[in-house]
Amino acid sequence: MSGRVIVVGSVNIDLVARVPHLPHPGETVTGGSYDRHHGGKGGNQAVAAARLRRPTLFIGALGDDTFEVEARRALLAERVDVSMVASLPGQPTGVALILVDATGENQIAVIPGANGAIDTGYVRECLGRLGRLTGDVVLVCNEVPLHVVREALICAHAAGATTVLNPAPATGIGRSVFALADIITPNRSELSMLLQTEDRETGRRTDAGQEVSVRARRLIEPGPDGPGVRKAVIVTLGASGVVVLERIGSGLEGAVASKGETPDEAATAGPGAETLATDGAVSASAATAGPDAEGIRVWEVPADRVATIDSTGAGDAFNGALAAAIAEGRSLAEAVQRAVAAGALATTHVGAREGMPTALELEGFLAT
Ligand code: ADP
Repeated sequence: MSGRVIVVGSVNIDLVARVPHLPHPGETVTGGSYDRHHGGKGGNQAVAAARLRRPTLFIGALGDDTFEVEARRALLAERVDVSMVASLPGQPTGVALILVDATGENQIAVIPGANGAIDTGYVRECLGRLGRLTGDVVLVCNEVPLHVVREALICAHAAGATTVLNPAPATGIGRSVFALADIITPNRSELSMLLQTEDRETGRRTDAGQEVSVRARRLIEPGPDGPGVRKAVIVTLGASGVVVLERIGSGLEGAVASKGETPDEAATAGPGAETLATDGAVSASAATAGPDAEGIRVWEVPADRVATIDSTGAGDAFNGALAAAIAEGRSLAEAVQRAVAAGALATTHVGAREGMPTALELEGFLAT
């Protein structure tokens, strides 16, 4: 059954000043140029999904300033449903102030404004008004308060949606939050931060030298404080692609079925199943050699080779495309493949939201 993408997250206006050099404390730097962009991980991810022609609805908040009108129009222009975007009185719309010097070095200050003022009641009410969410994907990023992230994951799961947590930034996300997600999508540094948070909470120590799949396993396996992520951990590794840990029997492994097995056969294939290559791009990882009593399949997808000019927004393109593909009813393997392609395409354009690929671009790229 195909469904919608519902994004719960942030919208910012990015004010980017290109300056001769970054100012020291107290210094004024004059000259350079200035641009305004639409941003915020939530907004970018919603646009990424909508450009892939998935019905996309955004739940979030803007301020009551002039940026509110601009930010709302920009989402609408991309066919994102903004009927559940609140305008909060007395709050500014979220802004990112970005200074970039001639060498590309930057200084960034993010003022969350309305993004930081969303409350759990609002998100609960919005998701409640949508009724049953079977077939829908709810994608949540961490640029809104952590209690809102939690509430969104709880309500979406209770309503039958597939939940995806993009733990960006990863600050403060412990097991009590990530275990509420069906799928979690940290990049390499977010994975480290998630493990450090858990280490702080449990007094355990992480071996930072372990390979990614071994470290990511901790997110899907039960920990001292409870269960892990419900269905899959996807670690994005920039130009090195992704590592996926998928729980066998989670209902996401249809790609094996597309090779000729029935989903039931695939689901019961057991610990050896991870040695099956899927869609030609998925290889067995050395990490699967260990005992797999938990029924976890580990695989990797290399990044697509493209002429990268700006990797900003690759993660947002990845998450939006992943959510869109799962909402289309595709298997996790297919969804990851499409997300990897979308992430690569995003790096061939300057800017974050501007670079989100369209359905036409993505299909064309996948067909080559
Ligand atoms: P984030 O932007 O959140 O740090 P990543 O940089 O890991 O996320 O990018 C997300 C995905 O986009 C990667 O897993 C990869 O598939 C794709 N991607 C990112 N950078 C490149 C690149 N330089 N070349 C090809 N694909 C890329």
